[in-house]
Amino acid sequence: MPDRWTWRPGQSDQCGLSGIGIAARYSANVGIVFAARVRYELRRMKTPPPHDSPCPPAKTAVALRRRLLAWYADRRRDLPWRRTSDPYRIWVSEVMLQQTQVATVIPYYERFIASFPDLATLARADRQTVLKHWEGLGYYRRAHHLHQATRELMAAGKERVPDRREVFRSLPGVGDYIANAVMSIAYEAPLAVVDGNVKRVLARLCGLTTAVNHPAAHREYQAVADTLLDRRHPGNYNQALMELGALVCTPRHPECGACPWQTACFAHRNGVVADYPRRIRKAPIPEHAMVAGIVGHRNRLLIVQRPAEGLLAGLWEFPGGRREGGQSAKAACRAILNQTTGLSVSVQRHITRVNHAYTHFKIVVDLFLCRKDKGRVRLQGPTAFRWIRPDELQDFPFTGVHKKTFAKLSPDMLRLRTRRT
Ligand code: SF4
Repeated sequence: MPDRWTWRPGQSDQCGLSGIGIAARYSANVGIVFAARVRYELRRMKTPPPHDSPCPPAKTAVALRRRLLAWYADRRRDLPWRRTSDPYRIWVSEVMLQQTQVATVIPYYERFIASFPDLATLARADRQTVLKHWEGLGYYRRAHHLHQATRELMAAGKERVPDRREVFRSLPGVGDYIANAVMSIAYEAPLAVVDGNVKRVLARLCGLTTAVNHPAAHREYQAVADTLLDRRHPGNYNQALMELGALVCTPRHPECGACPWQTACFAHRNGVVADYPRRIRKAPIPEHAMVAGIVGHRNRLLIVQRPAEGLLAGLWEFPGGRREGGQSAKAACRAILNQTTGLSVSVQRHITRVNHAYTHFKIVVDLFLCRKDKGRVRLQGPTAFRWIRPDELQDFPFTGVHKKTFAKLSPDMLRLRTRRT
């Protein structure tokens, strides 16, 4: 493998030119070329031996920082959370941006900050209101943790985001990434961030062969990120590196021609950009068949709330569950609704089929229009229920997959004129 940090022969600004070849080609300038060659050889003798560490040598790192910050000053996007220095707002943005694209986050962030402009307001809000603001953004545990963390701070008499990493890191939902991002951007603490974008850029820049999704990878990437960090401008530097990954060093078609790190980049110089970052192939994620029912009764419909812990905690949905193989969707719907709500229902018609993907599995949900025949609600699984008017659907924070079904519900259907079939 070639040394990572020495220019290779054949590159425009490489240092390995043959003095004899140059002299022959430019015989009229033999004296000048010879002198240049002597100067070069003298410089080279003072240079440390080739460096094969994954981290760039100090001099290269200085140049990389300078070029990255200059590029960022020119190319950075004007994003709502970049117009503030309020640590709370920066914290909210970083929580929302985890696993979620910038374009998706912007409207959520603006609505959230409009309703909860500071830490104290968020801490005082009730959980359902917070979830309603997060509805559709996914990874709801983030909202629970953020809300809980602000409550813990207020209970401890703190209305500001702590400026000490160990205190902030001990709050619910605050991992290494969030801690380093918020501390560096809000308080200029010299802490390097490592997220998916950063790993990809560093893997290509330094030729890191450890798979980015390997359990041991984080420590190695963090060490390289720590070495490269600009300790005088850690907030801007971290944002610049993430921005480079988002705009230029993208997963599929990186724009190396527009990259401030092009001349130093291992993957680009060796023509192996497509091989980095390395990744361990995972087994395809499973798909589960689900059923759910809109149960009508006296012009109201039944919704149930998921438990306070676990997947989609505290969100509302139409009652339903997972269908086992060999059962028709209609029969499964009747049986599952009886089991989870205690009601006997007639399944009247199929409304829609919706696909949804989570991190570790996918689901396909068949939604049916049902009518309550008899019984009283006795929940098994869900923790609360409501009989609501159709126009109240928007008042509850719903799971993403059930919210997708709203578009398929016609006004006529929601008048719930269920008839015996
Ligand atoms: S040169 Fe290309 S591969 Fe290397 S860091 Fe820049 S965009 Fe990524």
